[in-house]
Amino acid sequence: MDLKQVTVIGSGVLGSQIAFQIAYSGFKVTVYDINDEALVKAQHNMRTLTDSYERDMEVTDLELKEALSNLIYTSNLETASKEADLIIEAIPEVKELKIDLYKQLAILAPEKTIFATNTSTFLPSDFAKDTGRPEKFLALHFANQIWLNNTAEIMGTEQTDPDIFETIVTFAKNIGMIPLPLHKEQRGYILNSLLVPLLKSAEDLLVNEVANPETIDKTWMIATKAPRGPFGILDIVGLNTAYNIALSRESEDSKKIANYLKENYLDKGHLGIQSGKGFYTYPNPTYLDKDFLK
Ligand code: NAD
Repeated sequence: MDLKQVTVIGSGVLGSQIAFQIAYSGFKVTVYDINDEALVKAQHNMRTLTDSYERDMEVTDLELKEALSNLIYTSNLETASKEADLIIEAIPEVKELKIDLYKQLAILAPEKTIFATNTSTFLPSDFAKDTGRPEKFLALHFANQIWLNNTAEIMGTEQTDPDIFETIVTFAKNIGMIPLPLHKEQRGYILNSLLVPLLKSAEDLLVNEVANPETIDKTWMIATKAPRGPFGILDIVGLNTAYNIALSRESEDSKKIANYLKENYLDKGHLGIQSGKGFYTYPNPTYLDKDFLK
């Protein structure tokens, strides 16, 4: 199946990146958001993305101009959905909001339209029946900074048509992603199923005073040849997010992690890379020093 017309619903952090990357790959993309104010913000996000692409990749001005010209914006859900071959949903991680959107799309989008969710924490089966087309619905999960971190985790439900799944695998390749197919539903997909326990173990070692962040990172970096350790990763994720994840677990050891992060970092405004300081100080964290691993 040839996907030509793509719609991205929600133009925040990830939605803008997804829409821009698809437009940059030569597809026509309609961007939908709830009101004109959100769409003005979306257009601003797209212009900022052209700067990031210029900084991080070998791109020409013409390519960026063409990418911008492939994007159109609307706050009318019917206009956004009526011609779409594929709709990618990237609205806030709130179950009721997503269910409400899929119920509307089930009516507005033509039968041919494939729906894909970019949800990070829900399963596609949480929404399948609301889409009115469970066989044409699956998760297509991108990572933040999509142009650098080009993973596309693809996860269907038991009802997803295998041909539709393959269509999305091909589409992911066509927009410059590395498709990573999952054979069954898994909360957190592959990446977070690996990463979240690693980060939690590192936090446990720290709050139980077994070792300091530098020693823990050094161990991981030397032993696995990874470019950074768990605390370097936590600074990228953002310590606010790390705190919220710890709080959501509700166990005693996670409470200890949450308190530690709050007292030593959040309360001092140290949020990770975004604030210039977390476990390391930026833009030149010590784990990049040539002597760090000695
Ligand atoms: P965000 O808050 O930055 O953006 C959400 C956008 O959706 C906003 O522009 C908002 O105006 C719009 N919106 C709100 N309600 C809407 C509705 N009913 N219909 C249409 N648009 C609506 O959120 P985000 O970080 O871009 O996350 C979006 C989705 O992507 C979530 O499911 C999240 O789990 C997933 N995700 C996020 C990241 C990340 O690093 N931020 C990474 C991977 C996946």
